[in-house]
Amino acid sequence: MSEAASLGQAGEPGQPAPLIELAGIRKRYGGHDGAPAVEVLRGLTLSIGAGEFVAIVGASGSGKSTLMHLLGCLDRPSDGTYRFAGQDVASLNPDELAWLRREAFGFVFQGYHLIATESARENVEVPALYAGMPAAARHARSEALLKRLGLGERLDHRPNQLSGGQQQRVSIARALMNGGRIILADEPTGALDSSSGAEVMALLGELADAGHTIILITHDRKVAAQARRVIEISDGEIVADSGAVAIPPTSTALPPLDMSRAAHCAHDGGASLGTELLDAARAAWRVLWINRFRTGLTLLGIVIGVASVIVMLAIGLGTRQQVMAQLGAFGSNLLYMASRGESSRIPGRSITLADLDALKDVPGITHVLPNVTGNKVIRHGNLDVQTYVRGTGPALPQIQTWPVAKGGFFTEEDEREMATVAVLGAHLAEKLMPDVANPVGQSILIGNVPFQVIGVMSAKGALTGEKDEDDVLLLPFSTAGIRVFGQREPTYTVMAVDDVKRVTEVEAAVDATMFERHRIRDYGISNAAASIAAEARTQDNMTMMLSLIAAVSLVVGGIGVMNVMLMTVRERTREIGIRMATGARRRDILRQFLTEAVLVSVVGGVAGIVVGVTVAGLLLVWDVPVIFSLSAIAGAFACAVVTGLVFGFMPARKASGLDPVVALAGQ
Ligand code: ADP
Ligand code: MG
Repeated sequence: MSEAASLGQAGEPGQPAPLIELAGIRKRYGGHDGAPAVEVLRGLTLSIGAGEFVAIVGASGSGKSTLMHLLGCLDRPSDGTYRFAGQDVASLNPDELAWLRREAFGFVFQGYHLIATESARENVEVPALYAGMPAAARHARSEALLKRLGLGERLDHRPNQLSGGQQQRVSIARALMNGGRIILADEPTGALDSSSGAEVMALLGELADAGHTIILITHDRKVAAQARRVIEISDGEIVADSGAVAIPPTSTALPPLDMSRAAHCAHDGGASLGTELLDAARAAWRVLWINRFRTGLTLLGIVIGVASVIVMLAIGLGTRQQVMAQLGAFGSNLLYMASRGESSRIPGRSITLADLDALKDVPGITHVLPNVTGNKVIRHGNLDVQTYVRGTGPALPQIQTWPVAKGGFFTEEDEREMATVAVLGAHLAEKLMPDVANPVGQSILIGNVPFQVIGVMSAKGALTGEKDEDDVLLLPFSTAGIRVFGQREPTYTVMAVDDVKRVTEVEAAVDATMFERHRIRDYGISNAAASIAAEARTQDNMTMMLSLIAAVSLVVGGIGVMNVMLMTVRERTREIGIRMATGARRRDILRQFLTEAVLVSVVGGVAGIVVGVTVAGLLLVWDVPVIFSLSAIAGAFACAVVTGLVFGFMPARKASGLDPVVALAGQ
């Protein structure tokens, strides 16, 4: 760039390099994809100095607009060189070109090219947005410009609420927003009635007097005659040039453009990332709000996706926990052992108390609980009830995490003394003593042996097969064996392991001890941990599957976002062109459309969370086990945002990759 600057000052003193210098410029269209090749500009050589008021006049189709697009760096020539302030424009990258458009040029088009969704004020502010002017300064300047152009009362009107002449004045204000050193006006009066046209021409004359370089393109000789220099083109060639007029020194008031700043244009934009994003989000919100019906439909996909992920996970977690709680009531650190009945000794009674004494010494075993069970009729007063009687050890409430609700449990001493004490299961207590508030202290009969009730268990609420686990009578093992069932050996044995993680290891040790003593596997050992783990896996798989199905709907929602964004990009091609002409860089366009896509997803995600939590809450009211997990909710929301980013990226990139001229010509 410093080379450019020195080039600019290389001429003789008082005779700086012209602002615009075209040499041998050619522009061809077509020539590929079957389109016939046409040469629209055929070797134009032209220079325009700062502060000139030039009219380029020619018949329709002579190449005037093509020339203007080249001058304004919206398009590149096929051949020839364009020097701007001494700098070869071909050497600038897209960002530097965007900088040049934004800092040096202001465009005024025949069709005004205002953004339909934005107010007059906002349209005027667009170039400043891309130049990174702070909001307060931006508002002040746009208001001042619009007031100067007689639109002080129309600041918040949309383009379709303004007349043609007013719209053209808005577009002139926009051209001036960033300084507008060079105003490129393509048929600015073409669509206006004669009085509005005269107003616009007068305005351009004033701007020329104020030192702006004006390049006016027209097919109308009378309009052209109002400029100080008239260049006539025909069939892509200059056929007449009235020549540069000496510019009065007072009018060159605008300072020359510092071309060395182009290189730093990437760092332009004084606003912080936060305010930039906020501005982008606000603009995106407005676009979405204007198309709110369509936006709503798009949202629906995301809302359903997020809500179903949340509900499915909540149900999955809830069911899992419920099943685990029920299984956990049996104790996941317990081993169960019973005879297989294949013994050469007494069938079904091969395991002796001596075996159990030996098992107490197996490392990792904390309790060995012999059990003797069977069905018996129990009498209280004149009520007879058949129930399941279980003779067991004093450690039962502790190792099966089954607390006593009333009274107490029998002790080691009761066990040793073969005490005739009993503890009732919760349902048995209701069945046997419906009228007794506290069964503790009551006396019951099994056969003709009287027992004293010393406690009532809390309700387990669990079923094992068809059996109600609360319909049970618990007795000390020794008492039950000898006085009720007439046997000394346990029916089955429960062993508690100190650490759930060691259950399998300890199970193997128990097996080894037993095998050493029996020399035959006439016993079976099982543990609840394995079945609980299997159940947990099934539950997890269920949850996984439900969530996957929900996630699919999220992806479908994402495709909806992509679809709408692609439509939006197509609909707003012209807007993209306008933004590029006023200095937007590719990444500005990318960010704008990406912000819109992400905003849809964020709004959809929030709505989805609300819907999901509400639905899950309703299910909870209907007793469906539901557990909200913050990480599931956050995860679903994050998924929605990522979906927006991923599916919004393609349309956004498509928008940012558009060629400015092509976009401007778009519908
Ligand atoms: P003017 O503005 O002087 O009326 P233009 O510069 O718009 O003329 O167009 C000049 C010629 O170039 C016309 O014949 C037009 O058909 C042709 N032309 C303009 N743009 C394109 C394009 N993108 N592809 C092919 N031909 C084009
Ligand atoms: Mg034209």
